[in-house]
Amino acid sequence: MPMPMSTPTPTPTSPARPRLAVWKFASCDGCQLTLLDCEDELLSLAGEIDVSYFLEASSATVDGPYDLSLVEGSVTTEQDVERIHQVRAASRRLVTIGACATAGGIQALRNFADVGDFLAAVYATPAYVSTLATSTPISTHVRVDFELQGCPINPRQLLEVISAFLARRRPNISSSAVCTECKRRGTVCVMVAHGTPCLGPVTHAGCGAICPAYHRGCYGCFGPMESPNTPALIRQLRVLGMNEDNVDRVFRTFNTAAPAFRDAPGEGSGSGETDARD
Ligand code: SF4
Ligand code: SF4
Repeated sequence: MPMPMSTPTPTPTSPARPRLAVWKFASCDGCQLTLLDCEDELLSLAGEIDVSYFLEASSATVDGPYDLSLVEGSVTTEQDVERIHQVRAASRRLVTIGACATAGGIQALRNFADVGDFLAAVYATPAYVSTLATSTPISTHVRVDFELQGCPINPRQLLEVISAFLARRRPNISSSAVCTECKRRGTVCVMVAHGTPCLGPVTHAGCGAICPAYHRGCYGCFGPMESPNTPALIRQLRVLGMNEDNVDRVFRTFNTAAPAFRDAPGEGSGSGETDARD
């Protein structure tokens, strides 16, 4: 009797993994390096997601659309303006990472001056340089689903953001100030105990309050927290001896174009308080 023909068992098809893309605009690449630095976690992540476009890691790319795009850097050229719209159109979710992408970065110092003066001072032939007069965050140009602050971003927070988007939930990122992290790690307040100026009360948590742990004031690299009380902090900075120029400078760093830091010096000057050390 002939053996019955066996019917082939269908091979289960695994569901397609979500596609991740990582994009660079005007930036130093530090936030992309934070992702590469995750090493062990990246290996498990690679089992869950398809890293489809990440030029810092591989020249092999896959065309979009992408489920999640991470965008580093600010918009500083006409080409950037065009490209960020293309990135947005190709991305189901778009998360900006770092001070450049969320607040214009250190390069946004040009927003307070004439970019032509910088070009003339730095380049032998400024005519060869094509640039916009301003550096702007990504959210100025396209809709952003989440902003992860920091210069550079914190790896734990980055993994939380990626995991949250994979699980289709909101990232669990605290919006409190660096001061809360000082309290949690038991760091004595450098401003209260030693009179060291510190931007911790108005700066977004996320770094674990590293600088105060080494007896230094925070200089705000994580950008403004939600609803910062900058006028109150500026009054305290003035009490500690900072003159108007130095108050201005302390807010003019990596997150200078974030509205809360951009407008802060002006808010303080309305206090009417003066200091003998001015
Ligand atoms: S050291 Fe700075 S960040 Fe820490 S509690 Fe004092 S003011 Fe806040
Ligand atoms: S400057 Fe402030 S936010 Fe940045 S690492 Fe230091 S304590 Fe953290």
